[in-house]
Amino acid sequence: RAKSLGRNRAILYDPAWGESVSPHLRTESLLHEALQRSLFRLHFQPLFRIADMQLAGAEVLLRLSTSDGTPVPPSSFIPVAESTGQIAEISAWVLRRLCQQIRAWDHQGPSSLPFALNLSAIELSQEDLAQRLHKILSQEGIAPSRVHLEVTETAIARNEAQARDNISALRTAGFEVWLDDFGTGYSSLKLVKDLPFSGIKIDREFVMDLTAQTSTAVIAESIIAMASNLDFQVVAEGIEEPEQLEFLRARHCEIGQGFHLGRPVCASDFERLYLSKTQPQPRPEQDPTPT
Ligand code: C2E
Ligand code: MG
Ligand code: MG
Ligand code: MG
Repeated sequence: RAKSLGRNRAILYDPAWGESVSPHLRTESLLHEALQRSLFRLHFQPLFRIADMQLAGAEVLLRLSTSDGTPVPPSSFIPVAESTGQIAEISAWVLRRLCQQIRAWDHQGPSSLPFALNLSAIELSQEDLAQRLHKILSQEGIAPSRVHLEVTETAIARNEAQARDNISALRTAGFEVWLDDFGTGYSSLKLVKDLPFSGIKIDREFVMDLTAQTSTAVIAESIIAMASNLDFQVVAEGIEEPEQLEFLRARHCEIGQGFHLGRPVCASDFERLYLSKTQPQPRPEQDPTPT
């Protein structure tokens, strides 16, 4: 494993390194450069109320490309950022950038549309999480009700006691907290029983072969029924086919997200496609913007 660069060493990413530098070190240095030169971008994926297909919010997804324009997926840079500690600075940047974007959009037309942020495992195990997020929001003048926080079972498992305290503190501070990737961890049911979530996001795995496999359909149906009986809101992730949407609509799943409804897009495309009320846009089946 590569030696850490340390916080202030300005060794910048160089594509010419090729194979001579470990992927971990290359990513760490790319993150360092991205923070210095603000190379990160936010993308927004729409969420819709399935009953009437009204826009219900968006999930904020972080984007990063190397200097030659090659996209680096969050699944490869988030774990590195977590292991180096760069995640703290990155998350703070994401939240501030989101607040600025919400202010800009509210300026054009005030709304209460919520935006969902993903919290990393590291953040969820830090003691002052709720105060830190709340402080940024009050500095930026954004109500906590506008920001929903998504946490995964894996992130909770890292330090369950601290995660529990944080989730309670976040709820008290006015944030909604969602259990992301529901069903993929080891203790999903225990977590919904014990922790004060606002809702759950059914993982793509259970939506993927909803219509083909009976067992998956039964599980998805049961999760939706459970959520509704426990008064949790429920989002189905990864809807790619019209048949999946129809299945979910018939079972009264509240909210949907997925490529069939809308891919993650940059802020200006999100505004044009989903926020501009004056000219209703057809739902894009194939979005031109790569994600
Ligand atoms: P996630 O929170 O489960 O985010 C949803 C992921 O599923 C996104 O991938 C999104 O592009 C993808 N997705 C949405 N609809 C569909 C669909 O219909 N089909 C398929 N195949 N995929 C779909 P992305 O953007 O690559 O993000 C991956 C993960 O990276 C996220 O999973 C989240 O855990 C993490 N992540 C992204 N942005 C951030 C961030 O700002 N902070 C932190 N801590 N983690 C982030
Ligand atoms: Mg998420
Ligand atoms: Mg998810
Ligand atoms: Mg997922």
